[in-house]
Amino acid sequence: MFRRNFLKLTSLASLGLNSNSFINEISHYLTLSFDDGFKKSCYKTAKIFEDYGLKASMNIIASGHLESFTNESEWMPKKLLGDFYDWNNLKSRGHEIMPHSWEHLNLTKIPIENAKNNIDKCLEYFNNNLDNFSQSDSIFNYPYNSSNKEIDEYLLKKVKAVRTAGRLVLKNNLSNKIPNEKKNLRLGTWGYGPDKSDAFVEKSINRFLKSDGGWLILTLHGLDNEGWGPLSSNYLDKLLNRLIKVNYLKIKTIGDVLI
Ligand SMILES: [Zn+2]
Repeated sequence: MFRRNFLKLTSLASLGLNSNSFINEISHYLTLSFDDGFKKSCYKTAKIFEDYGLKASMNIIASGHLESFTNESEWMPKKLLGDFYDWNNLKSRGHEIMPHSWEHLNLTKIPIENAKNNIDKCLEYFNNNLDNFSQSDSIFNYPYNSSNKEIDEYLLKKVKAVRTAGRLVLKNNLSNKIPNEKKNLRLGTWGYGPDKSDAFVEKSINRFLKSDGGWLILTLHGLDNEGWGPLSSNYLDKLLNRLIKVNYLKIKTIGDVLI
């Protein structure tokens, strides 16, 4: 028996596969976290995830569809953003819709009282406009994955977790530890742009699959030609097709990992 297992391990190692692949236990979680709320991309993303029986994870700028929203950019033109009809529609199909701030300001670059006010406005709008939104179960996904201790502390009294830059919380690690305590969490993520992010996603996930395990959260934006560091829809389709067959990996939304 020892010899057989040893040979199994040796041959897996020589193939560059993780030894968990024949244990059939989930050691790896992956979240693909799509920011900003590009209408066309969100519907496309949702459809691709649905084809594999998965829930997509979308993070929305609360005021992106309102007259008052003027913080558009080259990568984020207002005309491409959806509204709460879209977000309620996608949520009713089972997808995860989470806050990505009130108006997409970098909260570390404005006075702290403004940052707090901005956060409150965002959460209030979600409470009033997103069906079945539970603030205490929600995850706040920072614009630019930019936060500091004071902002994190303020938010973690209100929401279950914050998603912030990997460089702030993961140090040199690619992935988060799979948490035992499922609240009060600062989760680290990595992203790439402004050009296509297919190669970055492929490389990060391959490295992650060969690691001992954890929870990799990648920040993405739109598909094809939309958003900063767009992902090709064909690539996303092929990627999910491949990953659902990896028996030690589960693709989940952040909210579902934290249930
Ligand atoms: Zn964003």
